[in-house]
Amino acid sequence: MSAVDDLKNRKTPVFSGDDVTVLFVLGGPGAGKGTQCERLVAAYGFTHLSAGDLLRAEQNRPGSQYGELIKDYIKNGQIVPMEVTIVLLENAMREAMAAKPTSTSTPTSTTPALKGKFLIDGFPRKFDQAVKFEEAVCPAKFVLFYDCPEEEMERRLLERGKTSGRSDDNAESIRKRFRTFIETSMPVVDYYEKQDRVARIRANVPPDEVYRATQAELAKRLGDNF
Ligand code: UDP
Ligand code: MG
Repeated sequence: MSAVDDLKNRKTPVFSGDDVTVLFVLGGPGAGKGTQCERLVAAYGFTHLSAGDLLRAEQNRPGSQYGELIKDYIKNGQIVPMEVTIVLLENAMREAMAAKPTSTSTPTSTTPALKGKFLIDGFPRKFDQAVKFEEAVCPAKFVLFYDCPEEEMERRLLERGKTSGRSDDNAESIRKRFRTFIETSMPVVDYYEKQDRVARIRANVPPDEVYRATQAELAKRLGDNF
């Protein structure tokens, strides 16, 4: 059975929230998710998984059956069918945990304890992804949501587009990405907000300030021991 079929049929998470800390990192395109994730990795030892980066890597992988599809979706600022993205995330989580064996497994346990801390960046940006990921891969602790006005995000993306080489950092694609964000991704934030699982952080201030607010949210929601 293919990984995608396996995922479709699965109704219980492969990773337990007791063993794995997953934070979703959301915000419009250009809100500063990647910048904050980099700092959190350095300070707390999270593994940073950017859904967009994983999709771009898969798009460029020779022999990938999804390359063309991913390319079209990204250029048009649309959301790639969720199974593709979720399988990539799940595989990346497994790899990260295999690479970092934990000190908490005891000699008597038959299965090694899996400890992982993940920032899942730019995901879930559609409702079905959110539900499926938590149902079949791992429940998330909460969402870090970087809230930034559109004109500021646009300014940043156009600046980044000068050097990023990304097919979607141009005025036309940016407009489509904003639209997808408002119509498709904000409902995900609202869904988690209703469950009181969103840390909303003002993102149109300097990165240091955003980071301090982020650290405060982590301390408040996870304490020191995670
Ligand atoms: N994307 C997707 N599913 C995801 C995450 C990303 O299809 O779960 C695609 C989507 O087309 C998006 C693009 O990848 O516009 C770039 O995502 P990334 O997170 O890199 O960019 P951002 O918008 O955060 O700058
Ligand atoms: Mg990004």
